[in-house]
Amino acid sequence: MRHFAIVGSGPAGFYTAEALAKAYGGEARIDIIDRYPVPYGLIRFGVAPDHQSLKAVSKRYDQVAEGGTVQFLGNVAVGAHVSIDELRGLYDAVILAIGAPHDRKLGIPGEDLPGVVGSAEFVGWYNGHPDFADLDPPLGGSHAAVIGNGNVALDCARILAKNRHEFEGSDIVGHALDALDRSAIRTITILGRRGPHQISMTPKELGELGHLEAAAPLVEAGDFPPIEADEALEPGQRKSINILREFATHEPDDSKPKKIVFDFFARPVRIEGDGKAERLIVERTMLDAGGGAQGTGEMYEVAASLIVTSIGYQTPRIDGVPYDERGGKFANDAGKIADGLYAVGWARRGPTGTIGTNRPDGYEVAEQIAAAMPPGSDGAKAGSKVLNGLLEERGIKATSFTDWRTIEAAEVAAARPGSPREKMVRHDDWLKALGH
Ligand SMILES: Cc1cc2nc3c(=O)[nH]c(=O)nc-3n(C[C@H](O)[C@H](O)[C@H](O)COP(=O)(O)OP(=O)(O)OC[C@H]3O[C@@H](n4cnc5c(N)ncnc54)[C@H](O)[C@@H]3O)c2cc1C
Repeated sequence: MRHFAIVGSGPAGFYTAEALAKAYGGEARIDIIDRYPVPYGLIRFGVAPDHQSLKAVSKRYDQVAEGGTVQFLGNVAVGAHVSIDELRGLYDAVILAIGAPHDRKLGIPGEDLPGVVGSAEFVGWYNGHPDFADLDPPLGGSHAAVIGNGNVALDCARILAKNRHEFEGSDIVGHALDALDRSAIRTITILGRRGPHQISMTPKELGELGHLEAAAPLVEAGDFPPIEADEALEPGQRKSINILREFATHEPDDSKPKKIVFDFFARPVRIEGDGKAERLIVERTMLDAGGGAQGTGEMYEVAASLIVTSIGYQTPRIDGVPYDERGGKFANDAGKIADGLYAVGWARRGPTGTIGTNRPDGYEVAEQIAAAMPPGSDGAKAGSKVLNGLLEERGIKATSFTDWRTIEAAEVAAARPGSPREKMVRHDDWLKALGH
């Protein structure tokens, strides 16, 4: 018998559990540990609430959790409640799948002014993340800015632009829905340091902006290189650029009260305001020979009382685990950190790729583990039998997958019309639902 601990119950954690369960069958016990009483990481707290079909991937993870080999231990924060060294003493292998939940900083003056929020905070606020339930982003001004040219920036802009009833069928939390309904924001500027060819936005997410009820996308035709240059792009990127080119042909649509303005070649240099964010000072850029952004010295202002920065994420450090400072992730070689210690998903690769990109990561690491300790071989580790005792001694009440099902049922029962569930957003509410 082998014992494996996977830290983190997002896609990377679950794909790794699936791969280990397939490789070892009944010869392994796999514990998926998460700091929250509820599973699925960014599927619950990150993926946009109006993208329900994507969130349905969790049904596949349910099957993994219910397969008999895998146990969910929620409400256990590794690094705080139990250390990595302790886990390594109890398990044949420990796999870190803790994602990259911390926003990267812009590093410009004014970034700490009220009104400037990271996308992890903003997304967490509308998605029911307990740490951000009280964020209360300022929605009373007419202008917002989103800094970044990836899909998360598009999510943030789209959520700010939608009318209340366009959230029907979503699982957006009630506090965010009410606040967005009262929002005065009419112009949302999306800023990117480079041009349309350098975006990291996928066609589906870009295309959605063309179908919003109350908002129209605006793109400057002059920002594009000659159309022949599109031929060198890979097909997905070419599709995205075609959508942007199409937006650039739109006449201003006065029937739509909101605008989503794409501001390319725009490098924020400072955030200003009287005790709170009021405007971004931006330098116009151009592409240098290597495809990077080079300042032109031309400065201008973009009004914004809400500024969402969406320029990437970092994995938090955990004591005893080597860290790759530049990459903002655990130092690893193809997923291996040290003997018996691995990383998968965003904690391994950094914050790139889709949900599905985490699957090969998990399978590759499971293969490495199976090569190091072949299925059928025995280890001498105690696994969750001893971990459970340790947690009990420390007053930590771990939640099980059955507990999650209880919470889920309570959320579904509390759902308002047109919503699949009413998410609980506080730690205490989760534990209360379990009678703890
Ligand atoms: C805003 C946003 C929107 C996205 N939308 C899409 C989309 O539409 N489509 C798509 O394909 N991809 C999308 N992605 C990408 C996708 O969510 C990621 O690829 C995926 O979630 C990464 O998986 P992960 O398991 O590495 O990390 P995560 O999903 O972040 O999971 C990490 C888990 O580790 C837990 N954890 C963290 N620290 C500890 C600790 N110390 N102890 C115990 N547990 C811990 C967390 O609670 C969490 O459950 C989106 C990402 C973001 C940020």
